[in-house]
Amino acid sequence: MFTPSELLEINTLLTPENKIVILTHYNPDGDAVGSSLGLRHYLKAKGIDAEIVVPNDFPKFLKWMPESRKAIIGEYKRKVAFDIINEADVIFCLDFNSPSRIGILGDWLIHAKAKKILIDHHQQPEKFDFVYSDTVIPATCQMIYHFIEAMGDEKLVNKDIAECLYTGIMTDTGGFRFRSTSAATHRIIANLIEKGADPSFITSNTWDTNTVSRLHLLALVLARIEVVKDGKVAILSLTRNELKEYGFQKGDTEGFVNYGLSIMGVKMSAFFMEDLYEDFVKISFRSKDDMDVNQFSRKYFNGGGHINAAGGKSDESLQNTIETFKNRVEGEAL
Ligand code: 5GP
Ligand code: MN
Repeated sequence: MFTPSELLEINTLLTPENKIVILTHYNPDGDAVGSSLGLRHYLKAKGIDAEIVVPNDFPKFLKWMPESRKAIIGEYKRKVAFDIINEADVIFCLDFNSPSRIGILGDWLIHAKAKKILIDHHQQPEKFDFVYSDTVIPATCQMIYHFIEAMGDEKLVNKDIAECLYTGIMTDTGGFRFRSTSAATHRIIANLIEKGADPSFITSNTWDTNTVSRLHLLALVLARIEVVKDGKVAILSLTRNELKEYGFQKGDTEGFVNYGLSIMGVKMSAFFMEDLYEDFVKISFRSKDDMDVNQFSRKYFNGGGHINAAGGKSDESLQNTIETFKNRVEGEAL
Protein backbone atom coordinates (compact mmCIF):
# COMPACT_ATOMS: atom_id res chain seq x y z
CA MET A 1 0.00 0.00 0.00
CA PHE A 2 1.06 3.64 -0.36
CA THR A 3 2.63 5.08 2.80
CA PRO A 4 0.38 7.20 5.07
CA SER A 5 2.09 10.38 3.83
CA GLU A 6 1.64 9.33 0.19
CA LEU A 7 -2.04 8.66 0.89
CA LEU A 8 -2.37 12.16 2.34
CA GLU A 9 -0.70 13.62 -0.71
CA ILE A 10 -2.89 11.60 -3.07
CA ASN A 11 -5.92 12.75 -1.10
CA THR A 12 -4.99 16.40 -1.68
CA LEU A 13 -4.63 15.70 -5.42
CA LEU A 14 -8.10 14.17 -5.67
CA THR A 15 -10.24 17.29 -5.94
CA PRO A 16 -13.08 18.22 -8.30
CA GLU A 17 -10.86 21.00 -9.74
CA ASN A 18 -8.10 18.63 -10.82
CA LYS A 19 -8.36 16.73 -14.08
CA ILE A 20 -8.14 13.05 -13.20
CA VAL A 21 -7.42 10.42 -15.83
CA ILE A 22 -7.34 6.62 -15.57
CA LEU A 23 -5.23 4.61 -18.03
CA THR A 24 -5.00 0.88 -18.48
CA HIS A 25 -3.16 -1.58 -20.72
CA TYR A 26 -3.36 -2.57 -24.38
CA ASN A 27 -6.03 -5.19 -25.12
CA PRO A 28 -7.85 -4.41 -21.87
CA ASP A 29 -9.05 -7.50 -20.02
CA GLY A 30 -11.60 -7.92 -17.21
CA ASP A 31 -9.18 -6.70 -14.54
CA ALA A 32 -8.06 -3.69 -16.60
CA VAL A 33 -11.61 -2.57 -17.40
CA GLY A 34 -12.99 -3.55 -13.96
CA SER A 35 -10.29 -1.68 -12.01
CA SER A 36 -10.58 1.42 -14.22
CA LEU A 37 -14.36 1.55 -13.90
CA GLY A 38 -14.28 0.62 -10.22
CA LEU A 39 -11.92 3.52 -9.51
CA ARG A 40 -13.99 5.88 -11.67
CA HIS A 41 -17.17 4.96 -9.76
CA TYR A 42 -15.34 5.38 -6.44
CA LEU A 43 -14.10 8.85 -7.39
CA LYS A 44 -17.61 9.71 -8.57
CA ALA A 45 -18.94 8.68 -5.16
CA LYS A 46 -16.49 11.23 -3.72
CA GLY A 47 -17.82 13.89 -6.09
CA ILE A 48 -14.87 13.73 -8.47
CA ASP A 49 -15.04 13.13 -12.22
CA ALA A 50 -12.45 10.96 -13.93
CA GLU A 51 -11.95 10.10 -17.59
CA ILE A 52 -10.90 6.57 -18.58
CA VAL A 53 -8.62 6.23 -21.62
CA VAL A 54 -7.74 2.79 -23.03
CA PRO A 55 -5.25 2.22 -25.87
CA ASN A 56 -7.57 0.03 -27.95
CA ASP A 57 -11.05 -1.43 -27.85
CA PHE A 58 -12.10 -4.19 -25.44
CA PRO A 59 -14.36 -7.22 -25.91
CA LYS A 60 -18.16 -6.99 -25.89
CA PHE A 61 -18.39 -9.31 -22.89
CA LEU A 62 -16.93 -6.52 -20.74
CA LYS A 63 -19.27 -3.84 -22.02
CA TRP A 64 -22.13 -4.69 -19.70
CA MET A 65 -20.25 -3.04 -16.84
CA PRO A 66 -21.77 0.27 -15.74
CA GLU A 67 -20.39 3.21 -17.79
CA SER A 68 -17.96 0.99 -19.73
CA ARG A 69 -19.04 2.71 -22.94
CA LYS A 70 -17.84 6.07 -21.64
CA ALA A 71 -14.21 4.99 -21.82
CA ILE A 72 -12.27 6.88 -24.50
CA ILE A 73 -10.70 4.42 -26.91
CA GLY A 74 -7.34 5.77 -28.09
CA GLU A 75 -7.29 3.92 -31.42
CA TYR A 76 -10.61 5.52 -32.42
CA LYS A 77 -10.22 8.97 -30.83
CA ARG A 78 -6.53 9.77 -31.01
CA LYS A 79 -6.78 13.55 -30.67
CA VAL A 80 -9.26 13.43 -27.79
CA ALA A 81 -7.13 10.83 -25.98
CA PHE A 82 -3.97 12.91 -26.49
CA ASP A 83 -5.58 16.09 -25.17
CA ILE A 84 -6.99 14.33 -22.10
CA ILE A 85 -3.60 12.85 -21.18
CA ASN A 86 -1.72 16.03 -21.99
CA GLU A 87 -3.98 18.23 -19.87
CA ALA A 88 -4.35 15.85 -16.91
CA ASP A 89 -3.29 16.81 -13.39
CA VAL A 90 -3.37 13.25 -12.08
CA ILE A 91 -3.05 10.00 -14.04
CA PHE A 92 -3.83 6.65 -12.46
CA CYS A 93 -2.01 3.82 -14.22
CA LEU A 94 -3.87 0.59 -13.56
CA ASP A 95 -3.00 -3.04 -14.27
CA PHE A 96 0.22 -2.25 -16.19
CA ASN A 97 3.62 -1.11 -15.03
CA SER A 98 5.47 0.22 -18.04
CA PRO A 99 4.52 2.84 -20.65
CA SER A 100 5.45 0.22 -23.26
CA ARG A 101 2.25 -1.67 -22.33
CA ILE A 102 -0.16 1.06 -23.43
CA GLY A 103 0.64 1.40 -27.12
CA ILE A 104 0.45 4.91 -28.54
CA LEU A 105 -0.57 6.31 -25.16
CA GLY A 106 2.87 5.41 -23.74
CA ASP A 107 4.75 8.36 -25.21
CA TRP A 108 1.99 10.75 -24.20
CA LEU A 109 2.07 9.38 -20.65
CA ILE A 110 5.85 9.82 -20.40
CA HIS A 111 5.61 13.47 -21.47
CA ALA A 112 2.46 14.35 -19.51
CA LYS A 113 2.86 16.91 -16.71
CA ALA A 114 0.46 15.03 -14.42
CA LYS A 115 1.35 13.25 -11.18
CA LYS A 116 1.38 9.55 -12.06
CA ILE A 117 -0.02 7.00 -9.66
CA LEU A 118 0.61 3.31 -10.29
CA ILE A 119 -1.65 0.59 -8.90
CA ASP A 120 -0.61 -2.75 -10.36
CA HIS A 121 0.27 -6.37 -9.64
CA HIS A 122 2.71 -7.20 -12.47
CA GLN A 123 6.36 -8.07 -11.91
CA GLN A 124 9.15 -5.47 -12.12
CA PRO A 125 7.36 -2.11 -12.19
CA GLU A 126 9.01 0.97 -13.67
CA LYS A 127 9.19 4.39 -11.94
CA PHE A 128 6.03 6.44 -11.25
CA ASP A 129 5.43 9.32 -8.81
CA PHE A 130 3.45 7.06 -6.50
CA VAL A 131 3.73 3.29 -6.64
CA TYR A 132 1.43 0.68 -5.13
CA SER A 133 2.80 -2.54 -6.60
CA ASP A 134 2.12 -5.96 -5.11
CA THR A 135 2.81 -9.01 -7.24
CA VAL A 136 1.22 -11.38 -4.72
CA ILE A 137 -2.26 -9.89 -5.14
CA PRO A 138 -4.20 -11.72 -7.88
CA ALA A 139 -5.98 -8.72 -9.40
CA THR A 140 -5.61 -4.95 -9.66
CA CYS A 141 -9.31 -4.81 -8.73
CA GLN A 142 -8.44 -6.22 -5.32
CA MET A 143 -5.80 -3.49 -4.96
CA ILE A 144 -8.39 -0.82 -5.79
CA TYR A 145 -10.48 -2.19 -2.93
CA HIS A 146 -7.46 -2.02 -0.59
CA PHE A 147 -6.84 1.54 -1.79
CA ILE A 148 -10.43 2.53 -1.03
CA GLU A 149 -10.07 0.96 2.43
CA ALA A 150 -6.77 2.78 3.03
CA MET A 151 -8.45 6.05 2.08
CA GLY A 152 -11.03 5.31 4.80
CA ASP A 153 -13.82 5.15 2.24
CA GLU A 154 -15.12 1.58 2.44
CA LYS A 155 -18.57 2.97 3.21
CA LEU A 156 -18.64 4.58 -0.25
CA VAL A 157 -18.49 1.21 -2.02
CA ASN A 158 -21.76 0.98 -3.96
CA LYS A 159 -23.24 -1.49 -6.43
CA ASP A 160 -21.43 -0.02 -9.47
CA ILE A 161 -18.04 -0.20 -7.77
CA ALA A 162 -18.81 -3.67 -6.42
CA GLU A 163 -19.81 -5.11 -9.82
CA CYS A 164 -16.73 -3.78 -11.58
CA LEU A 165 -14.26 -4.91 -8.91
CA TYR A 166 -15.90 -8.33 -8.59
CA THR A 167 -15.56 -8.84 -12.35
CA GLY A 168 -11.82 -8.11 -12.42
CA ILE A 169 -11.10 -10.33 -9.44
CA MET A 170 -13.16 -13.12 -10.96
CA THR A 171 -11.48 -12.94 -14.37
CA ASP A 172 -7.88 -12.49 -13.17
CA THR A 173 -8.19 -15.41 -10.73
CA GLY A 174 -9.79 -17.62 -13.40
CA GLY A 175 -12.91 -17.87 -11.24
CA PHE A 176 -11.12 -17.82 -7.84
CA ARG A 177 -8.85 -20.71 -8.79
CA PHE A 178 -5.35 -19.38 -9.44
CA ARG A 179 -2.52 -19.58 -6.95
CA SER A 180 -2.59 -16.05 -5.55
CA THR A 181 -6.31 -16.27 -4.67
CA SER A 182 -6.26 -15.75 -0.90
CA ALA A 183 -8.54 -15.52 2.12
CA ALA A 184 -8.28 -11.73 1.75
CA THR A 185 -9.52 -12.07 -1.84
CA HIS A 186 -12.56 -14.04 -0.68
CA ARG A 187 -13.28 -11.60 2.16
CA ILE A 188 -13.31 -8.74 -0.31
CA ILE A 189 -15.52 -10.75 -2.64
CA ALA A 190 -17.93 -11.33 0.25
CA ASN A 191 -17.99 -7.57 0.92
CA LEU A 192 -18.61 -6.84 -2.75
CA ILE A 193 -21.55 -9.27 -2.80
CA GLU A 194 -22.98 -7.50 0.25
CA LYS A 195 -22.62 -4.19 -1.59
CA GLY A 196 -24.68 -5.49 -4.51
CA ALA A 197 -22.45 -7.55 -6.83
CA ASP A 198 -24.51 -10.53 -8.01
CA PRO A 199 -22.20 -13.51 -8.78
CA SER A 200 -24.56 -15.27 -11.17
CA PHE A 201 -25.44 -12.07 -13.07
CA ILE A 202 -21.77 -11.14 -13.43
CA THR A 203 -20.65 -14.64 -14.39
CA SER A 204 -23.29 -15.07 -17.04
CA ASN A 205 -22.71 -11.61 -18.52
CA THR A 206 -18.97 -12.13 -18.67
CA TRP A 207 -18.51 -15.81 -19.38
CA ASP A 208 -21.69 -17.27 -20.82
CA THR A 209 -21.23 -15.20 -23.93
CA ASN A 210 -19.74 -17.66 -26.39
CA THR A 211 -20.51 -17.17 -30.04
CA VAL A 212 -20.64 -20.12 -32.41
CA SER A 213 -17.56 -18.73 -34.18
CA ARG A 214 -15.59 -18.70 -30.92
CA LEU A 215 -16.50 -22.32 -30.23
CA HIS A 216 -15.51 -23.31 -33.77
CA LEU A 217 -12.15 -21.58 -33.31
CA LEU A 218 -11.73 -23.40 -30.01
CA ALA A 219 -12.51 -26.73 -31.65
CA LEU A 220 -9.84 -26.02 -34.26
CA VAL A 221 -7.26 -25.12 -31.66
CA LEU A 222 -8.03 -28.10 -29.44
CA ALA A 223 -7.87 -30.52 -32.34
CA ARG A 224 -4.26 -29.55 -32.96
CA ILE A 225 -2.81 -29.17 -29.48
CA GLU A 226 0.75 -30.40 -29.49
CA VAL A 227 2.55 -31.57 -26.37
CA VAL A 228 6.36 -31.47 -26.22
CA LYS A 229 9.17 -31.82 -23.67
CA ASP A 230 8.06 -35.13 -22.21
CA GLY A 231 4.44 -34.09 -21.93
CA LYS A 232 5.23 -30.95 -19.92
CA VAL A 233 4.65 -28.23 -22.49
CA ALA A 234 1.49 -27.70 -24.55
CA ILE A 235 1.46 -25.64 -27.76
CA LEU A 236 -1.65 -24.11 -29.31
CA SER A 237 -1.84 -21.87 -32.37
CA LEU A 238 -4.04 -20.02 -34.84
CA THR A 239 -3.21 -18.43 -38.19
CA ARG A 240 -4.53 -15.14 -39.51
CA ASN A 241 -6.41 -16.95 -42.28
CA GLU A 242 -8.19 -19.11 -39.73
CA LEU A 243 -9.15 -16.05 -37.74
CA LYS A 244 -10.57 -14.48 -40.87
CA GLU A 245 -12.37 -17.63 -41.95
CA TYR A 246 -14.19 -17.89 -38.61
CA GLY A 247 -15.02 -14.20 -38.37
CA PHE A 248 -12.77 -13.59 -35.36
CA GLN A 249 -13.98 -10.89 -32.96
CA LYS A 250 -11.90 -9.26 -30.25
CA GLY A 251 -11.85 -11.51 -27.17
CA ASP A 252 -12.78 -14.69 -29.05
CA THR A 253 -9.56 -16.46 -28.10
CA GLU A 254 -9.53 -15.34 -24.46
CA GLY A 255 -8.82 -18.32 -22.21
CA PHE A 256 -7.78 -20.73 -24.98
CA VAL A 257 -4.28 -21.03 -23.52
CA ASN A 258 -5.72 -22.44 -20.27
CA TYR A 259 -6.89 -25.61 -22.05
CA GLY A 260 -3.23 -26.53 -22.59
CA LEU A 261 -2.58 -26.22 -18.89
CA SER A 262 -5.51 -28.49 -18.05
CA ILE A 263 -3.74 -31.50 -19.60
CA MET A 264 -2.44 -33.89 -16.97
CA GLY A 265 1.31 -33.42 -16.43
CA VAL A 266 1.54 -30.17 -18.39
CA LYS A 267 3.50 -27.46 -16.56
CA MET A 268 3.47 -24.78 -19.23
CA SER A 269 1.10 -23.85 -22.02
CA ALA A 270 1.80 -21.45 -24.89
CA PHE A 271 -0.71 -20.07 -27.36
CA PHE A 272 0.55 -18.45 -30.57
CA MET A 273 -1.71 -16.33 -32.70
CA GLU A 274 -0.94 -14.30 -35.82
CA ASP A 275 -2.20 -10.74 -35.58
CA LEU A 276 -5.18 -10.05 -37.80
CA TYR A 277 -3.61 -7.00 -39.46
CA GLU A 278 0.08 -6.68 -38.69
CA ASP A 279 2.97 -9.06 -39.18
CA PHE A 280 3.63 -10.27 -35.68
CA VAL A 281 2.65 -13.20 -33.50
CA LYS A 282 0.99 -12.59 -30.14
CA ILE A 283 1.90 -15.16 -27.52
CA SER A 284 0.19 -16.10 -24.27
CA PHE A 285 1.96 -18.17 -21.65
CA ARG A 286 0.50 -19.94 -18.64
CA SER A 287 2.32 -22.15 -16.15
CA LYS A 288 2.03 -24.05 -12.91
CA ASP A 289 4.05 -23.89 -9.70
CA ASP A 290 7.52 -22.36 -9.99
CA MET A 291 7.83 -22.27 -13.77
CA ASP A 292 8.27 -18.49 -14.20
CA VAL A 293 6.75 -17.45 -17.54
CA ASN A 294 7.28 -13.75 -16.76
CA GLN A 295 11.06 -14.30 -16.85
CA PHE A 296 10.81 -16.66 -19.80
CA SER A 297 8.76 -14.20 -21.83
CA ARG A 298 10.99 -11.26 -20.92
CA LYS A 299 14.11 -13.20 -21.89
CA TYR A 300 12.94 -14.62 -25.20
CA PHE A 301 9.75 -12.96 -26.41
CA ASN A 302 9.91 -9.28 -25.55
CA GLY A 303 7.14 -9.64 -23.00
CA GLY A 304 6.35 -10.04 -19.33
CA GLY A 305 3.49 -10.41 -16.88
CA HIS A 306 3.20 -12.62 -13.82
CA ILE A 307 4.99 -15.80 -12.70
CA ASN A 308 2.17 -18.06 -13.95
CA ALA A 309 0.58 -15.86 -16.65
CA ALA A 310 2.48 -13.76 -19.13
CA GLY A 311 2.46 -12.64 -22.72
CA GLY A 312 4.89 -11.67 -25.42
CA LYS A 313 5.39 -11.01 -29.12
CA SER A 314 7.46 -12.23 -32.01
CA ASP A 315 8.19 -10.65 -35.38
CA GLU A 316 9.11 -13.99 -36.93
CA SER A 317 6.59 -16.12 -38.84
CA LEU A 318 4.21 -18.29 -36.84
CA GLN A 319 6.11 -21.46 -37.73
CA ASN A 320 9.52 -20.00 -36.91
CA THR A 321 8.20 -18.57 -33.66
CA ILE A 322 6.95 -21.98 -32.58
CA GLU A 323 10.28 -23.57 -33.60
CA THR A 324 12.18 -20.94 -31.62
CA PHE A 325 9.89 -21.56 -28.68
CA LYS A 326 10.51 -25.31 -28.79
CA ASN A 327 14.27 -24.72 -28.79
CA ARG A 328 14.09 -22.25 -25.92
CA VAL A 329 11.86 -24.45 -23.81
CA GLU A 330 14.24 -27.39 -24.22
CA GLY A 331 16.74 -25.43 -22.16
CA GLU A 332 14.30 -24.84 -19.30
CA ALA A 333 14.23 -26.98 -16.19
CA LEU A 334 10.63 -28.16 -15.91
P1 5GP B 1 -2.58 -12.61 -21.81
O1 5GP B 1 -1.91 -13.88 -22.14
O2 5GP B 1 -3.89 -12.83 -21.11
O3 5GP B 1 -2.63 -11.64 -22.94
O4 5GP B 1 -1.66 -11.91 -20.73
C1 5GP B 1 -1.26 -12.54 -19.55
C2 5GP B 1 -0.56 -11.55 -18.65
O5 5GP B 1 0.66 -11.11 -19.24
C3 5GP B 1 -1.37 -10.29 -18.41
O6 5GP B 1 -1.21 -9.94 -17.07
C4 5GP B 1 -0.76 -9.26 -19.30
O7 5GP B 1 -0.82 -7.98 -18.74
C5 5GP B 1 0.69 -9.72 -19.46
N1 5GP B 1 1.13 -9.50 -20.84
C6 5GP B 1 0.53 -9.94 -21.97
N2 5GP B 1 1.22 -9.58 -23.07
C7 5GP B 1 2.29 -8.88 -22.64
C8 5GP B 1 3.38 -8.23 -23.31
O8 5GP B 1 3.50 -8.22 -24.55
N3 5GP B 1 4.29 -7.60 -22.50
C9 5GP B 1 4.19 -7.60 -21.14
N4 5GP B 1 5.14 -6.97 -20.43
N5 5GP B 1 3.17 -8.20 -20.49
C10 5GP B 1 2.23 -8.84 -21.21
MN1 MN C 1 -4.57 -7.84 -13.82
